[in-house]
Amino acid sequence: VSLSVALVHHPVYDKHKKVVTTALTNLDLHDIARSSRTYGVETFFIVHPVAAQRELASRILGHWNEQNDFRKMALDLVAVVPSLAAAKESLAARHAQPPLVAGTAARQTALEKVGFGALAAAAATRPVLMVLGTGWGLTDEVLASMDLCLPPLKGPSDYNHLSVRSACAILLDRMYRDRED
Ligand code: SAM
Repeated sequence: VSLSVALVHHPVYDKHKKVVTTALTNLDLHDIARSSRTYGVETFFIVHPVAAQRELASRILGHWNEQNDFRKMALDLVAVVPSLAAAKESLAARHAQPPLVAGTAARQTALEKVGFGALAAAAATRPVLMVLGTGWGLTDEVLASMDLCLPPLKGPSDYNHLSVRSACAILLDRMYRDRED
């Protein structure tokens, strides 16, 4: 199985739908790494265009690399890259084929949808990259560049403000919840 996750810090929207670059958050890094490790994710890409922020991510990873516990096991999956293109290239080089790239959004989009189980099945035969946004989410342009999109998660209320790290855990569970092994 080859499923990877990318957390994009640019280009994303802010609350006024302006395109911005968000700051790295320690909590997202740790929690998404731990969810990723639990669900068998191959690589968790931190995508940040600002070198100083990438260095910060590497410093955090370096710190935990000296420990030898469950957090290190999760953070070992993390790769820090400047762009989504770099994440795709890294997977393409490793697997000798380009990844199938799936976007995520809290809002409904007109993009072609892929079911959670279908995406998990695809990852059994080819590399798959699930892309998450920070801030107020991935821009329309970035979403339009994806091969397909997962359906938005919805609870029974009209509150639609999951944190990206919670959304990631739920998305991964929706993909793998029917596993029997
Ligand atoms: N309004 C934003 C949007 O439309 O994407 C919410 C952004 S949310 C705080 C940040 C990221 O978390 C999203 O880019 C997506 O990756 C994920 N996310 C949050 N809620 C989600 C949901 N209901 N369904 C799918 N992904 C979600």
